[in-house]
Amino acid sequence: TRRPRILNDLAAYLKDHPQSDSTRRIVAEGMRSSLTCPLVVKKQPVGFLFFSSMKKNTYSEAHQELFLKIADQMAMILEKGRIYQELLEITEELRQARDALETEATRDSLTGVWNRRSILELLKRDMARAQREENPLTAIMIDVDHFKRINDRIGHLAGDGVLTEVTSRVASTLRSADILGRLGGEEFLIILYPADRETAIEVMERARRACESGPVVVDSGELDVTISLGAAVVEDLEGVDLAAILKTADHALYRAKEGGRNRCEVDSV
Ligand code: GH3
Ligand code: MG
Ligand code: MG
Repeated sequence: TRRPRILNDLAAYLKDHPQSDSTRRIVAEGMRSSLTCPLVVKKQPVGFLFFSSMKKNTYSEAHQELFLKIADQMAMILEKGRIYQELLEITEELRQARDALETEATRDSLTGVWNRRSILELLKRDMARAQREENPLTAIMIDVDHFKRINDRIGHLAGDGVLTEVTSRVASTLRSADILGRLGGEEFLIILYPADRETAIEVMERARRACESGPVVVDSGELDVTISLGAAVVEDLEGVDLAAILKTADHALYRAKEGGRNRCEVDSV
C-alpha cells in the first residue's frame, strides 16, 4: 500500500490471518505489536522498516509520523547507495571499453603481439633511449620461410593458425623486456634493448630453433615451419634513423634467405 501500518495486537491479527507465516513467527518470538514503514524511492517501494514490541498497543500515530521520517531518510540513503553502485559499475564498464579500444588500436588482432604502428613507435622510443643512455640496440626482422607454399598447401585460414603458432614459439624464447610485433603478413620485428651483437645472435638462434624444434599441428596434419632472421645492431645511434635500421635488418634477412633460409644473419648499422 506504500502506507505505514500499525498492528497493536499481533496475536489477534494472527487469529484472523492464520496463513500469515511471518506473523506466526514473530508472535512465537513474543512480539505483540508492530509498526511497518515502507521505504519508498521515486514512488516505488524498495523495502520496509519493521519495528516490534513485546507489549500490546505500543505504537500510536505519533510513532508512525516519526518512523515515517526515519524511513524517508533511510530510503534516501539507500537510493544514494544505489546510485553510487551504479556509478561504480558505469566507471568499470568505461574502463573496460577504454582498455578494449586501446588493445584494438595497438595489438595485432591475429597474433596478439604489437601491431605495425605500435612496434615502430616502440622502436623509435628505444632508439631515443639508446642514444640517451649510450647503449647498443638491436632490431631483428623475421620472415616465415616459404609461407606462400604453406598457404597453398593448407589454405589461408590454416596459414593464419601457423602464424599464431610461430608467434607464440618466438615469444616463448623472449624475456619480458623484449618487444615483439607484427610488421605485416608473415613478417615480425623484435626489439632488444640494450643488446649487442652477441645478444642479438643468441636471441635469434633461440627463436629460430623454437620454430624448427617440432612440426606445427594443423587440421590436415603436421607441417615443418622455419623462419629466417636478420638483425640490425646499432652501437651508436648518432645520425641513425628508423629507416636505416629497418633497411639494415632487411638486408641481413635477405642474406639469410639467400643463404638457404632457416638461418640468422646480423649487420651493424
Ligand atoms: P620466403 O621464404 O622467400 O619468405 O617465401 P614466402 O613464400 O614466405 O615469400 P613471401 O614473403 O614473399 O610471401 C609471403 C606470403 O604470405 C604472401 C601471402 O600470401 C602470405 N600472407 C601474408 N599475410 C598473410 C596473412 O595474414 N595470413 C596468411 N595466411 N598468409 C599471409
Ligand atoms: Mg615476407
Ligand atoms: Mg616469407
